[in-house]
Amino acid sequence: MKRIFRITGILTAVFFICGCSRQPEQSVLTQTAVAMGTVVQESIYAKEGKEAAAEEVLEIINALEQDTLSRRLESAEVYQLNHWSSEEREQHLLSKKLGKALQQCLEIWQTSEGALDITLAPVIQCWDIDDWAGEEGTAYPVPSKEEIAKLLLQCGCDKIKLEETESGYTLSLQEGVMIDMGAVGKGMALDEIRTYLEGQDTVEGAVVSVGGSVLTFGKKPDNTPWRVAIIDPVTTTGQIGYVSLTGNLCVSTSGDYERYVEADGVRYHHILDPKTGEPARSGVRSVTIVSSSGFVSDALSTACFVLGAQKGCALAESYGAEALFVTEEGEIVMTEGMKQYFTAE
Ligand code: AMP
Ligand code: MG
Repeated sequence: MKRIFRITGILTAVFFICGCSRQPEQSVLTQTAVAMGTVVQESIYAKEGKEAAAEEVLEIINALEQDTLSRRLESAEVYQLNHWSSEEREQHLLSKKLGKALQQCLEIWQTSEGALDITLAPVIQCWDIDDWAGEEGTAYPVPSKEEIAKLLLQCGCDKIKLEETESGYTLSLQEGVMIDMGAVGKGMALDEIRTYLEGQDTVEGAVVSVGGSVLTFGKKPDNTPWRVAIIDPVTTTGQIGYVSLTGNLCVSTSGDYERYVEADGVRYHHILDPKTGEPARSGVRSVTIVSSSGFVSDALSTACFVLGAQKGCALAESYGAEALFVTEEGEIVMTEGMKQYFTAE
């Protein structure tokens, strides 16, 4: 029941995003589905094969979740490594896909001063973030500071060792360390979808939204830019503006309104500060990143939320990405390069 509530909430947001790319053309197929625990909305512009392409996009997302990223499905590599025996933890061969993703995560962990930390799984589990439904006034049992402090001892990317060898990536995990790829999974899916679409001669354009991350691909029949709305974190039903994009780009937003609970009048959201193990309080309500890479846009939206506007802008620029922050005061702060994309409303 809880899950249904959450998914319905997100659906409104995603519908809103895609509502801006109205498509009068007969050559577009638009469909909505649930995958990766979130809402997927896709519009495929093609002369033929739209249905097959739309199905394949969903399959790519589902396969990534089921084979690689899920912490809950036994079939997934992340689930399996989180359940390794002590012996297996000493050194274990990974799939190339997960090895490469972990390598990128470790790099961003370093460049973000630890703001993106994929080893927060024990704390994420303790907060029960996966089951939050965005309900208000529930008797939510807030974890104690002592409990969180104890779990944080199991966290930190310095407790994992990744090596690239001739036979692939090997991983060593200290006892108690667990991985959560929730901050980057949607972006990884967008990168795989873009690679797939690039190989489809009949697909002229597409926009695919996986939760808070959107891929724009190719062009619309009328050659106008794609428009991706940026949701107003206060109302969550309106928008503060939109970004206009041409060609293949990814837009990820992390916001405190996306997943949260309230207890005793306090709102707890789903982006944790690895230093405290508590919802990050960096003075921002949402961060939107534009990048040519889905992985980078998703990873940075989470990291920049933790870092706040000033450090976040610098981090985004160091990756050739653009960032837009909505602060707690309702101000909009953005990188210089974001101005070419953003229109306020
Ligand atoms: P996103 O919505 O992309 O910002 O990702 C948020 C999700 O990533 C959460 O639901 C957690 O599963 C996980 N997460 C929360 N805080 C962090 C963090 N600081 N670093 C890495 N993953 C996190
Ligand atoms: Mg993210």
